Amino acid sequence: MVQQEQDKVLEDTERVVGRQALRNNVAAAVALADAVRSTLGPKGLDKLLVGTDGSTLVTNDGVTVLETAKVEHPTAKMLISTSRAQDDEVRDGTTSTVILTAELLVNALELVDRGVHPTIICSGYRMSGPVIEKALTEISRGADDATSLSSVRTSLAGKGDVGMQEILAQLAHDAAKATGSGNPEHVRIINERSGSIKDSELIPGIVLVKARLHREMKMMNHPGRILVLDGGLEHRKPELEASLKITNLGAIDEFHTRARAQLQSRIDSLKEAKIDCLVVRDGIEEEAHAMLSEAGILAYRRVERPEIEHICRATGARPVYNFEDIQETDIGRFESIREKKWQGVEHTIFEGSQTKGVTVVIRGSTQMRLEEAERAFDDALGVACQLVREPQLLPGGGATQIALARRLRRHAETIPGREQMAIEGFAAALESIPRILAENAGLDPIDELLRITAAQSENDSDWQGLDVTTGQASDMGEVSITEPLAVTRHAIAGATEAAISVLRIDDVLWAKQDAQEPDWQTDED
Ligand code: ADP
Ligand code: MG
Repeated sequence: MVQQEQDKVLEDTERVVGRQALRNNVAAAVALADAVRSTLGPKGLDKLLVGTDGSTLVTNDGVTVLETAKVEHPTAKMLISTSRAQDDEVRDGTTSTVILTAELLVNALELVDRGVHPTIICSGYRMSGPVIEKALTEISRGADDATSLSSVRTSLAGKGDVGMQEILAQLAHDAAKATGSGNPEHVRIINERSGSIKDSELIPGIVLVKARLHREMKMMNHPGRILVLDGGLEHRKPELEASLKITNLGAIDEFHTRARAQLQSRIDSLKEAKIDCLVVRDGIEEEAHAMLSEAGILAYRRVERPEIEHICRATGARPVYNFEDIQETDIGRFESIREKKWQGVEHTIFEGSQTKGVTVVIRGSTQMRLEEAERAFDDALGVACQLVREPQLLPGGGATQIALARRLRRHAETIPGREQMAIEGFAAALESIPRILAENAGLDPIDELLRITAAQSENDSDWQGLDVTTGQASDMGEVSITEPLAVTRHAIAGATEAAISVLRIDDVLWAKQDAQEPDWQTDED
């Protein structure tokens, strides 16, 4: 009876329960991982993505591939959001995250088939966390300037050509250092469709693609005071919607004179505050151009909000909403303001006194190349900034994963319960990274895995990994294949969380596409 009622309630829902639900979810995760596994590593292949509008994109980036794919399965969607979180947080390691999640799930399913309950597997996976955390701190080494740069270079491996990687890595590294804070949002990026990638440059200062308000205004090759107005310098609008009834010609003149005087008094207050440069978010009244010029104030209008934020950061200015109450603390300081013409377009360079601020100008001859460079730069900048925040490195080329797997296996031996099997499953999942790196380089995955594991134990070094460019097991520090600690740590933690949440599902309820209004109202009791 109760069962019948339940069936009724879920009439418009498709339901998959227990083992079958897990099996379906794992299959979805594996399908997703299969879509990106061939892109892993510097020898990974590219994917050609074709949008619904026929637009094309060639990429090697896991998260880009996944986000373009039209995925319906809820588990697959969950994995994509884990990968996106990895991208948002550390800008790298997205492919590894998806692969690791899928491997954790495949190994879990195998254990379920052997009679281990998913709850035990989740608990074993969770028990691996602290072991991994401790091991990562032991394996990692402090980064200096040179090793940070080579780590940024590693993150670009496989993206575009080597020449481009070299230029972008250096730019990202320098820009990240210049921020001081390691916040990638403090770097202004502009792209110019001219020249080639090698003409890309780092400019100390905030570059605006904009000319000064009026030709007569003088550029400032000296320090000065800057005010930022979050609004416009325009005639005040009447507060009420009043229509002006003109009774004589003099009235119209008087009206204009008053408006002009108001404008002049606002500019006088700028003069009083000894402002040299005015940056305005909205418009500046035509009549004010000459007044500003006369007052010796260099002005810019219609400056977008993100640009205003950059200028404020660089100069220490605080945006004001009107000129009535300018405080000394609102006024910023600049070192110089210059103009430069690129491809016939005026650009203004603000050099602040606080942080100076930096702008990276990325150049490329075609739109496609420019976009490719921009995406790669964005990732490289994320990695470089990450290293400014936490200058710690781990070996790449699968070395970290193998070192972790070795430790986990040793730890598993000490656990008497069935969790032991799950911890071993976790170790095996980590080994998928070096296996796939080898596979993508045309090497034998099993041989390579055994070789590196042996090399690590022989040399008693966690830094032995696979250099896929030479096909040799080497010390990853010597061949400069490294990754920021945060990238790997985040990837493993994200994958573990995602796998556990999938394992905890034992019932999937799908709303039927053509669900009708429930008809219980018309039913007899
Ligand atoms: P993800 O999206 O996970 O960052 P990538 O395609 O960028 O995927 O590949 C990253 C992996 O490639 C890391 O495990 C890194 O250690 C490895 N890798 C990079 N360069 C080399 C190399 N020369 N030899 C071996 N592995 C490398
Ligand atoms: Mg990467």
